[in-house]
Amino acid sequence: MTDTSRGEYASDELQTTDVHRIGPTMPMSSERASGPVEAPDKTVEEFVAAFLNELNFGQGVLLSRSTINDQYLALARTVRQYLMAGWLETGVQRRESGRKTIGYLSAEYLLGRQLSNALLATDLQDIADEAMKQCGIDIAALRAQEIEPGLGNGGLGRLAACFVDSLATMDVPCIGYGIRYEYGIFRQTFEDNRQVEVPDSWLSLGSPWEFPHPERQVRVDFGGRTETYTDDQGRERSRWIPDWNVLGIPYHHMVPGFRNGTVNTLRLWSAKATQAFDLQIFNSGDYAAAVRAQTFAENISKVLYPEDSTPQGKELRLQQQYFFVACSLHDFIQNTLPQDFDLRRLPERIIFQLNDTHPVIAIPELMRILVDRKGFDWDEAWDITRQCFAYTCHTLLPEALEVWSAELLGRLLPRHLEIIYRINKEFLEEVRETFPGDEMRIRSMSIIAEHPERSVRMAYLATIGSSKVNGVAELHSQLLRDKVLPEFSQYWTEKFTNVTNGITPRRFVFLANRRLSDLITDKIGSGWVTDLERLRDLEPYADDADFRAEFAAVKQANKERLFKVLQARDGIELPEHAMLDVMVKRLHEYKRQSLKLLHIVSTYESIISGRMRAEDAVPRTFVFGAKAAPGYHMAKETIFLINSVAATINADERVKDVLSVAFPANYNVTLAEKLIPAADLSEQISLAGKEASGTGNMKFALNGALTIGTDDGANVEIRQLVGDDNFFLFGMTEPEVEQLRAEGYQPTSYYRSNDRLRATIDLLAGGHFTRGDRAASAQVVDNLLTQDPFMALADFQGYLDAQDRVDAVYRDTDAWTRSAILNVARSGFFSSDRSMRDYLDRIWNA
Ligand SMILES: *Cc1c(COP(=O)(O)O)cnc(C)c1O
Repeated sequence: MTDTSRGEYASDELQTTDVHRIGPTMPMSSERASGPVEAPDKTVEEFVAAFLNELNFGQGVLLSRSTINDQYLALARTVRQYLMAGWLETGVQRRESGRKTIGYLSAEYLLGRQLSNALLATDLQDIADEAMKQCGIDIAALRAQEIEPGLGNGGLGRLAACFVDSLATMDVPCIGYGIRYEYGIFRQTFEDNRQVEVPDSWLSLGSPWEFPHPERQVRVDFGGRTETYTDDQGRERSRWIPDWNVLGIPYHHMVPGFRNGTVNTLRLWSAKATQAFDLQIFNSGDYAAAVRAQTFAENISKVLYPEDSTPQGKELRLQQQYFFVACSLHDFIQNTLPQDFDLRRLPERIIFQLNDTHPVIAIPELMRILVDRKGFDWDEAWDITRQCFAYTCHTLLPEALEVWSAELLGRLLPRHLEIIYRINKEFLEEVRETFPGDEMRIRSMSIIAEHPERSVRMAYLATIGSSKVNGVAELHSQLLRDKVLPEFSQYWTEKFTNVTNGITPRRFVFLANRRLSDLITDKIGSGWVTDLERLRDLEPYADDADFRAEFAAVKQANKERLFKVLQARDGIELPEHAMLDVMVKRLHEYKRQSLKLLHIVSTYESIISGRMRAEDAVPRTFVFGAKAAPGYHMAKETIFLINSVAATINADERVKDVLSVAFPANYNVTLAEKLIPAADLSEQISLAGKEASGTGNMKFALNGALTIGTDDGANVEIRQLVGDDNFFLFGMTEPEVEQLRAEGYQPTSYYRSNDRLRATIDLLAGGHFTRGDRAASAQVVDNLLTQDPFMALADFQGYLDAQDRVDAVYRDTDAWTRSAILNVARSGFFSSDRSMRDYLDRIWNA
C-alpha cells in the first residue's frame, strides 16, 4: 500500500504548471456534437490543464504539495470529465427514446479498479501517461493507489460487472441496480498460515467514481402489520402498516462503453436513518441510545456478506435484499418513467433480470405496488409482473438454493408474505387443473415448504414469477431442467433456456494483457475487442513459427511482470523459467483445491522418495488464490494446509527451482488481471455437475493458458470449441458421479488400492508439512478419506495421468504454444457481448 501521507514532492517551489487558470487556456470549442457539456480536448495540453484544474480547484492543493492520493483523485476526476458529456447525453437519449431498459438487479458487482478501465474506454491511456510525465508524476503509482470496489464475492458479482460493461459497449439501455456496501469483501491476510479477515474500507481515501444523489432518496418500509379495508369503489383492498423505515440514497457510477460515447449508469443504494438521532435523548446524555436507530438503519448497507454459494439465513441479509430492490423499483417507476406513464405498458419499458435469488423479493414488491398502490386488479397485475422479470439461476448445489423462514419474512415484510401466499395458492390451483389428483406433484411445486419449518423457496417464487429462467452454461441449464426444477421445466418447457456466461474482453484481455492485445491487433486488426469471434482469424498463425515465438515471448514477459508484482506485493520470489500452473477462485470444497494439493504433494513425494529424479520433472510453479468464507471451517483448514505445504516445499533444497508454490493473499480482480495473462495452465477441476459455469476458465483460455479440467460447467463448451487436442480432460462425467454416489462412494478403497495416493496421503497426514503436528492436517485428510461429497480421491488417478500429459506437451514448446494460440483463437464465443446478445434474443425481447 502506498504511503499517502508522504507523497509530497520534495520541492516546495511553485512550478510553472502549478496553478492552472481557467479562462483563455480552456478554449470553448463548439464543434463537438455531444450535448450540453464539453469535455476537454483529447490532447496532452488540455489533459494537463484539466488535471491541474482538478488538483487546484477540486482537491484544493498545489501540485508541489500534493500527495499521491491527491493526484490519484485529481486524475480520476479528470478522466471523469471526458466521460461526462457521454453520460449526460446517454441519459437524454434514454429518456427520449422510450426504448426498453434492462434493469439488472444484483446484490453484487465485483467491479475491479475503475481508473484503468475509464482510460481504456475513452482511449486516453497514452495521453494520460504523457500528461502525468509532464507533471513529473509516475502514473503507475496513481493506478496503484486505487482500492478496487470489492462489492462482490466472486464469479456472480464479476459476471454482473462484465454484463453492464457489454451492454454499454453495445449501447443497450441498462441500469445496474445494487447495494453500495460501505465495506466490500474482506481483505484476506495470512497469520501462521491461517486466513485472517480484515475489513475492506474501500471508501476511506475518497471515492471519485461515485455521484451521491441524496435528493433522490427513497423511503423503504419494514415490519408492522397489514389490514384490509373497503375502498371508495367498494373493493376489498389490503394495505401495509409498517412500523419502521430507512432511507435509500442512490450513488451513481458511470458504466462507459468501449469508445462509443455511451455511458450507462450503475445505481447503488446506501441506507441512511430517517432520523439521524433523537435530540431529546441526546440532550439527556444517553449518546449511545440517541444514535441507536441510526446505527441500526445504516447497518443495512454496512457490509457485503462474504458467503459464496451458501445462503446465510440472516435477517440483515433479507433486509439488504428488500432494501435495494424496493429502492430500485421505486426509482424506475417513479423517477425514470415519464410522469403518468400507463403501467399496463410497463413490460414494454423494463425487464428486470434477477441475478440469482437475492433480488427475488422484487416480484411480490411489484405486485404490491401495482395492486395496493396503483389499484390494479390482481390478475392484471400478475400478468404485468411476470412479463417484467426474468431469473438467472447460478447454482446446482441444493444447499445454495435460498429459503427464508415464513416467520422471519412475515415479521419483516408482512404484506409481501401475504402476496407470496396468494401467488402460490393461485399457481397451485392452476397446476391442479392440469394434473388433477396429483397431490405429490402439487406439493413438490409449492413455493412454501413445511419442513423443517414453514419457509419460502425463493427459486420457486422466481420461476413462477418470471417470463424466463436460465442456467449459465449448457450443462448447467440441462441439469437445472432435469434435477433442480424438473416439475417446473415439464410444466413450462418454453420458459427454460440457456445463456452461457461470458467475460468482457476489454478488461480481461485488452487491459490485462496489453502485450497480447498488441500482437493480436498487429495481425488481425483491432475489431476483435468488440467482436471477439474475429479471433478466429488468428488460427492460421498457430502454424507460423515467428508468430509462435512472439506469442511465447508475450507469455514470458507477462510472467516477469507478475513476478515483479508478487515480489513487491507479497515478497514472493519465483523462478524465471517454470510452467505457471494456476488455480484461482473462491475456496470451496466442490471446486476441489484439495485435489490440486494432492497433485502437488504427490509430485513432491515422488522426488523426495527418489521415485523420480528432480532433473526429470518439468519445473512448475503452482499459484493459488482463494478466499474462504469466514465461517466455512473446512475451507479455512484447506487454506492452512496449502500454506503449510507451500512453506515446506519452498524451503526444501531437494526440489529447488523444480517445484515452487505461491499463495498470494487477497485474490481479487486486480490480482486476477496480473495473474491470468501469465498463466500457462488453468486448473478447472470441480466435481462434474457442481460448477454452474465458471468464468475464470474463460479468462484463462482467452489469455492463452491451456485448461486441465473436468467435464463441468463451461469447461464442456471450452473443450468443444478449442478441440480435445488443446484441452486436458480428466475425471468422471456427471452421470458417472451420480452412479458412483448411488453405488456408495468409498474413499478408502482408492487409498488402499493406489500406491501413489497412499504415499501422498500418508505424507500429508504424517505431519511433514506441519512441523510434526499430525492433528494440524487431520481435518482435511480425514474429510477426504471418509465423507468428501466431492469425491476427490475418485478422480485422483485420472488427474495425475492428465498432469503427465500436460508435462509431455509442455516439453514440446512448439506444440504447447500452438495449442495456446488455438485456445485464444477459438474462445471468442466467451465474450460477454455474446452473452448479452443471447439474453436480448432469448429473454429480453429488447
Ligand atoms: C473471474 C473471477 C472469479 C470467478 O472465478 P471462477 O474460477 O469462475 O470461480 C472470482 N473472483 C475473481 C476476482 C474473478 O475475477
